[in-house]
Amino acid sequence: QHEAQSDIGVVGLAVMGENLILNMASKGFTVSAFNRTVSKVTDFVEGRARGQSIVGAYDLPELVSQLKKPRKVMLMVKAGPAVDSFIEALVPLLEPGDIIIDGGNTHFPDTVRREAALREKGLLFIGTGVSGGEEGALTGPSIMPGGSAEAWPAVKPIFQGIAAKVADGTPCCDWVGEGGAGHFVKMVHNGIEYADMQMIAESYSLLHGTLGLTPPEIGHIFEDWNKGELNSYLIEITADILSKQDDETGQPLVDLILDTAGQKGTGKWTSTTALDVGSPAATITEAVYARAISALKEERVAASKVLNGPATQPTPNKEEFVEQVRKALYASKIAAYAQGFQLMKLAAAENGWTLDFGSIAMMWRGGCIIRAAFLDDIKAAYDAQADLGNLLLAPYFAGIMDSHQAAWRQVVATAVLGGVWVPAFSSALAYYDGYRSERLPANILQAQRDYFGAHTYERTDRPRGEFFHTNWTGRG
Ligand code: NAP
Repeated sequence: QHEAQSDIGVVGLAVMGENLILNMASKGFTVSAFNRTVSKVTDFVEGRARGQSIVGAYDLPELVSQLKKPRKVMLMVKAGPAVDSFIEALVPLLEPGDIIIDGGNTHFPDTVRREAALREKGLLFIGTGVSGGEEGALTGPSIMPGGSAEAWPAVKPIFQGIAAKVADGTPCCDWVGEGGAGHFVKMVHNGIEYADMQMIAESYSLLHGTLGLTPPEIGHIFEDWNKGELNSYLIEITADILSKQDDETGQPLVDLILDTAGQKGTGKWTSTTALDVGSPAATITEAVYARAISALKEERVAASKVLNGPATQPTPNKEEFVEQVRKALYASKIAAYAQGFQLMKLAAAENGWTLDFGSIAMMWRGGCIIRAAFLDDIKAAYDAQADLGNLLLAPYFAGIMDSHQAAWRQVVATAVLGGVWVPAFSSALAYYDGYRSERLPANILQAQRDYFGAHTYERTDRPRGEFFHTNWTGRG
């Protein structure tokens, strides 16, 4: 009965779907809305969506009949089997050239698989990362689409229309690449997010544990840091968090929050992918392990009664130490991002994607959780040199590492001497020291491997690719 009038159909009326639809409607698009539990369609259409260019659909054929061609159906449902079951149900209802979009937190190999399967049927598929949570979805998320390139021109006005914009108006959304590239880049975003969050937590822990500052005092310091090179969403919200009082007790709320962190798996995916492609994303992985050790609360409580820390604590000068921690945080953050970009570079080569790293930095510049002022410097670094080997090698970042490293080393040393747990800070520093080393002790590893397993080694005084074996024991 309906005329085909909608620019896009969205399936899934939970937090993300509803807010994305409202965002699309506010930008002048007409959106059809469907949900498995159809009572939610009624609730939505008669509630938040009332009076806007939003049309309810009560089954999939109705949804499809409402869409302008080429039809665009965006799934905002729980990642996993729900996506496959909706794709399966949609396929017979669509025509060649129509587009299915998965906007959930899908693991990128699933997107590779789905795009290939739908291509066989003449359908186009986009797997897109969406970051920014509930508020971002409503007011402007970061959107990272990848998949069938032919689908991009049809989807681009909607996605770039609803995405966050950086100061000059550039949308935080652009085409990422083929296959699972969009979901892959969103996964790396989340991995970096794990590291970023952990490093901020370690800064809090250092200022609290070493200087004995209260949460509101640390909140003020973070507020101050947010005015400089650390300017970012995560620093801003952590300043807010530290200043929050518990209504019931009057205590800082963070003092009452149980110290066990949850996780949904995207950090782990980043780490396993890094291991798979042999990319040293140590700080991201440390941040995943940090949540794992935090979850062992009962074991830690028991161990704290058995295992001693150092007998004495360093007592650094307050002002000096605060500034050192700020510098250590910035240097560690740069190292973690360098790991993320290195992973993208290695995985892109492996998967045949052409990623534009400056463009990715702009997609992360607004809307998403890791948005930060210094992404402009990352963009500038890749604009100056598109084939930059490692972010650390860009003159701006090499300069920061140089000017901040003394403070960084002092902070890690102070933490180690005082028994303060700083896995991300110390792993970031280890990454820096490893990456900048002309010669590593891997000569010993190769000798050991050759000794016990005849795995052979190459020599510094012979061309690469010539392999040697030594009879180390002189025996038979
Ligand atoms: P969600 O809680 O992940 O999923 C709820 C939606 O999925 C509902 O529409 C639900 O339908 C549907 N659903 C669940 N299982 C289903 C199944 N087996 N078959 C059919 N439909 C099923 O919703 P969300 O938090 O809005 O997130 C949507 C997607 O965006 C997820 O992939 C999520 O990871 C991703 N994401 C979320 C955020 C965030 O901040 N929440 C941020 C970025 C990305 P019913 O109403 O019928 O149960």
